[in-house]
Amino acid sequence: MIYLDYQATTPLAPEAREAMLAWLGGPETIGFANPHSPHGGGRAAAAAVEVAREQVAALMPPCGRVIFTGSATEALNLAIVGSGARRLAVSAIEHAAVLDTARAVNTDVKMLPVHGSGIVDPVTTFEDVDLVAVMQVNNEIGTIQPVEPLARAAHEAGALFVCDAVQGAGKLTAPTEADMIAISAHKLYGPKGIGALWVRDGLALAPQIHGGGQEFGLRSGTLSPALCAGFGVAAKLARERMDEDGAHVADLWQAARAILHRWILNGSDTQRWHGNLNLRLDGLDVARLMSDLRGVAFSAGSACASGSGRPSHVLSALGLSPREAKSSIRLGFGRYTSLREIEDACASIEAATVAQGV
Ligand code: PLP
Repeated sequence: MIYLDYQATTPLAPEAREAMLAWLGGPETIGFANPHSPHGGGRAAAAAVEVAREQVAALMPPCGRVIFTGSATEALNLAIVGSGARRLAVSAIEHAAVLDTARAVNTDVKMLPVHGSGIVDPVTTFEDVDLVAVMQVNNEIGTIQPVEPLARAAHEAGALFVCDAVQGAGKLTAPTEADMIAISAHKLYGPKGIGALWVRDGLALAPQIHGGGQEFGLRSGTLSPALCAGFGVAAKLARERMDEDGAHVADLWQAARAILHRWILNGSDTQRWHGNLNLRLDGLDVARLMSDLRGVAFSAGSACASGSGRPSHVLSALGLSPREAKSSIRLGFGRYTSLREIEDACASIEAATVAQGV
């Protein structure tokens, strides 16, 4: 199986797995201790959680703190709902974790349009808004958003700025102007089941999960030291390998584009993360392509929206017709994808489309 769905989730880095195993011991070890217990085992687990917190914080701007959550979705709920903001503006290409949370707060959410290149206009002004949310890298098309000028514009209007950096964390420098940043371990070669919200110092949030008062009283519930440790090591590795990982996907991107030269790219070809290749071919039957190519794991549009039968809201926001959106595929690759895998997968995709007569 050639795995080309890195935006849905990434493989667990062996280094992160190794770090987790130390906290998954049986009864003969103390590695199962509750990090909130006052005894020695608990204190050791708590120390491991704090090491991980610092490793994750190193990916973020200074002057803030990291709150561990169960996912980026939960982090975004804490940011948006917990801020108490009522008047919200979000980009039209946000993930459902932002769109649906914003709509749950207020049905009248202001949508920021994108250009045909899949990028929000950086020269945007805000009025009558309490909170603006724009993502760093789009999960469907890989475009990088101008979050710094948008955050400054939000601040000029007296609004908070939330950035969903799930697809950018560990790949790009964190947006320094944001007030809150949500990230997810499983998109940066860490484990599933843990995310984080970075919150600028001095910003007060209302807790969304009540109970034992963990995570500065904002997110009650016993933390998993194993998940924290895996997240921390994955974050450290991503930071150390940022340039190398970026150069690697840029090479893979070139190779894929050369083979799939007939296909049209969805979204900007320059202002993007090159580990995401969202392409369309007029007349393509994507469902048939996927069933013909069972040895290649890729996505039809966003993994989160797939199965709904509706055309992707992101591709629609770019101005694509439903037919164009439905003839699009997303190839996602990263650190563990080899050149050979990309070449083989793209050659198979091309051959299968030719067999379809498109
Ligand atoms: N935001 C973006 C851009 C994503 O791609 C995803 C996951 O696909 C999420 C948020 C949600 O992340 P999680 O799976 O940690 O809830």
